Amino acid sequence: MEKVSIVVPCYNEEEVLEKFYETVTKIMEKNSTDFEYIFIDDGSKDRTLSIMRKLAREDKRVRYISFSRNFGKEAGIYAGLKNSVGDYVVVMDADLQHDPKLLPTMIDILKSGEYQSVAVRRYNRKEGIRGAFSKLFFKIMASLSGLNTKEGEMDYRMMNRRMVDSILQMAEYNRFSKGIFSFVGFDTKWIEQENIEREFGQTKWNMKSLFKYSIEGITAFSTKPLLISSFLGLFFCFLAFIFIIIIVFKTLVFGEVVQGFPTLICCLFLCSGIQLFCFGIMGEYLAKMYLEVKNRPIYLVKERSEDLKNEKMEEVKEKSK
Ligand code: UDP
Ligand code: MG
Repeated sequence: MEKVSIVVPCYNEEEVLEKFYETVTKIMEKNSTDFEYIFIDDGSKDRTLSIMRKLAREDKRVRYISFSRNFGKEAGIYAGLKNSVGDYVVVMDADLQHDPKLLPTMIDILKSGEYQSVAVRRYNRKEGIRGAFSKLFFKIMASLSGLNTKEGEMDYRMMNRRMVDSILQMAEYNRFSKGIFSFVGFDTKWIEQENIEREFGQTKWNMKSLFKYSIEGITAFSTKPLLISSFLGLFFCFLAFIFIIIIVFKTLVFGEVVQGFPTLICCLFLCSGIQLFCFGIMGEYLAKMYLEVKNRPIYLVKERSEDLKNEKMEEVKEKSK
């Protein structure tokens, strides 16, 4: 019988974790596939870890890994995939925004063998400023990287073992899952779900972290921004050259006095601004290389469910004494 590993990155999800577990378990138990949970506690500061311990004690199908600090959702996904043993692995958020009712459909699609992965995109999302930015990001991302990231794509995806193993081969430090999913290829079936608002707890994203995430995504999978800086440089050199010719021509032919202190200042500001912008782009890549070269671990483990077994063993030992 096939086994499904359910990978759930969690950061401060005490309000919803148990409900998530109950809802998903109910749906999975109706299905005839075996399953396991791999909860990742991403350095939560609330009761998330103790809820995981409790679930693992009560249910053998639950395993968890707790990070020594907050390493980010991408690190959580990586750790989950790495520790999964199922034939199929699904990555989903703890907040029930990823509709668990789709799980049986996803399993059926993968079982049929035609696709190696099933991904979910959402529609009917309330369009705020965030929605507009997200749309813009997906457009830029698609055109810069040539990767096939879909608008409304979430990190809700079920994959077969082969695809998971391919993803694990990409052990880079700067991880951008949507790019990695698309980079490894394989045939993906896209299904849709209506947007579900978060009912419990709070979103861990704000404008600043979203901006960082977009820059991360773009620079992780495309080097085209470096080209932008070269083009901008060329363009302004050309412009300056034309200005110089015009000024020299005017002075020589009409004997005009060169004037325009304000113009000078404007040009100065513009050019130095553009230079800084370009340095920024280069710096972004340099920083990435720096981190990559250091070869730091993607995550560090503080505690895992296997520790609970040792704890039990010790209890038994103690009793037998
Ligand atoms: N998450 C995480 N580490 C973080 C931030 C978030 O593991 O540093 C998890 C979080 O617990 C949730 C999922 O990533 O299960 C998505 O987070 P959230 O719901 O805040 O994002 P949104 O749905 O608003 O995009
Ligand atoms: Mg969410």
